[in-house]
Amino acid sequence: MKTFEDKPLWKGFFSVFKALPEMSVADWAEYRRVLPSESSSMPGPWRNERTPYLVEIMKELSPTSRTKEVAICKGHQVGATEAAINWLLCSVDLQPGPFLILQPTIKTAKKFSKQRLTPSIDLCKYVKGKIGGGKKAGNSLEEKAFPGGYVFIGGANSPADLASMPMGNIIADEIDRYPQSAGKEGDPIKIVSQRSSNFPRAKKFFLSTPTLKAISHIWKLFCDSDRRYYHLPCPHCCGIEGQPNGGYFVLEFELLHWDRGKPETVMCYCPHCGTGIEEYHKTEMLKNGKWVAENPGHERAGFHISSLYSPLGWKSWKEIVKDFEDAGNDVEARKVFMNTNLGLPWDNAGEQIAEEYLDRRKEQYACQVPPGVLILTMAVDVQKDRLEYLVMGWGKGEESWAIETGAIYGDTSVMISKGNVPDHWKNLDLIRTKGFYRIDGTEMRIGCTMVDAGYRSDVVYEYTKARERMKVFAVRGSSTPNKPIANKPSRNTKNRAAMFYVGTDQAKELIYSRLKIEDAGPGYYHFPNDEKTGFNASFYAGLISEKKIEVFKRGFKRLEWHKDNHARNEPLDLAVYNLAAIRFMEKDLARLTIQYESIKTPTNPITPEAKPTQRHFKIAPKQNGITLNQ
Ligand SMILES: [Zn+2]
Repeated sequence: MKTFEDKPLWKGFFSVFKALPEMSVADWAEYRRVLPSESSSMPGPWRNERTPYLVEIMKELSPTSRTKEVAICKGHQVGATEAAINWLLCSVDLQPGPFLILQPTIKTAKKFSKQRLTPSIDLCKYVKGKIGGGKKAGNSLEEKAFPGGYVFIGGANSPADLASMPMGNIIADEIDRYPQSAGKEGDPIKIVSQRSSNFPRAKKFFLSTPTLKAISHIWKLFCDSDRRYYHLPCPHCCGIEGQPNGGYFVLEFELLHWDRGKPETVMCYCPHCGTGIEEYHKTEMLKNGKWVAENPGHERAGFHISSLYSPLGWKSWKEIVKDFEDAGNDVEARKVFMNTNLGLPWDNAGEQIAEEYLDRRKEQYACQVPPGVLILTMAVDVQKDRLEYLVMGWGKGEESWAIETGAIYGDTSVMISKGNVPDHWKNLDLIRTKGFYRIDGTEMRIGCTMVDAGYRSDVVYEYTKARERMKVFAVRGSSTPNKPIANKPSRNTKNRAAMFYVGTDQAKELIYSRLKIEDAGPGYYHFPNDEKTGFNASFYAGLISEKKIEVFKRGFKRLEWHKDNHARNEPLDLAVYNLAAIRFMEKDLARLTIQYESIKTPTNPITPEAKPTQRHFKIAPKQNGITLNQ
């Protein structure tokens, strides 16, 4: 294969690799960098005083530093990518060498080249004269040549880019968005990290907003570094003798306080003196801030910086607080908030949910079906000698209430045929069609039932096919990553029974994130403090019996759900299938929510007529020849 080094341009490369000027990247930027209006909210000459925290990062990227690897785990709008561009342009100008800029995909690489790099080159006359106006040979969006060097802008999803790239300086941007594998080559981060450079002074610069904790590349690199945090001086107590840490502190989200619903009232409270600090102090605090390493001496320089440090005029504390309020209890939105604003990874694994935690959450229901429940669903798991079931109630925003769980014993290998329904299935019908009582004594019935057809499939299809009019369906879990929780049913079984394939990965993830929600409301799971309902220690252990762990398949990493040894995981499966059931009923839930919201206001009290209609819970009287126990 023709590699980068074979290109004629590289002949005699080492002869050009000359003595290093003493200027740091930050100094160079102050004198020669101009920010283009295309990519910057503050176009014009680069000023280090605007983002003082980037100075030390650029110092580590300078030829005078011995550091070979720099990693920055960051929130949005802190200017880190501009620091990377400063490094590249400074090198083109003063110390030419080969560069690779790696973006998550070829598409994002081209976009980066066009929107951020090219305008920056055009505005810097010292560099533009060397790279040329884009007309020279070897000059395109993906490749730019200059005397003594070359920059290649590639996508981490392209094995060819990774295999043929020059191992000089590397800027690996947004690394948490890289694919897990670049074709046969494997993990792109590993390829970049492990291949050593032919150039003794080459450096690697990793940048990213983190994603999921267990698979975040940048969080891993940061944890395995000297871990520097930017400490700010409190305008009120810094310099006062005896203040802990000299009155310096790391700016964390927990230090911000505001009146709920009024993000404009936000202030940061000094952890030492407790005084409120308004955001206008930030410019001065950033200027006098300092990086402090938690793990000094480590060969990799690691920096953590959140959007809370973003300079005035970029992202404000008020906007961050508003993002937080807007996210509410929505798990996906909270994850995005943590990643993009706080620069922190999201911990989605179930291992932090302990049984004691669930135990503490149990509550006394006022009645069998607590107020707020609008629909009941049921899930059934078929075992060799029993049917396990779980009934759940659902309200606004999929807030849910565990209602009843239990097992019905019987030999499940016995087939169901016309006129011959084994007792355990009959008993299941009894529970499935019985009334559950609300506080006012009215009954509520199960709206949809999902029966796991992963085992004894033929029996299950017979059972569900005959009861489809009552919204009783067969269901199967599919662990294909990213498969949606609910899909349209297929009918490819022998008796053409409707069959739902449920994306178990996503469902389990959602359930485990929801189990961590602390306040009742959308997404919250309620559990009854009453063992008669069947919810005992064994149920809770089963519910949290799985963990997401890293596995390596064909040389690259992915996350998979695994069951704890010896634990029964039926309760988790039942929770998954109930989720599929309510997703099937989502239009009904939305409609009932609107009705419920409109009648629960005191000006329009609940009357028997105005109660949420239960019409769709009605059981069809004739059951395709199957006699139900009435
Ligand atoms: Zn203070």
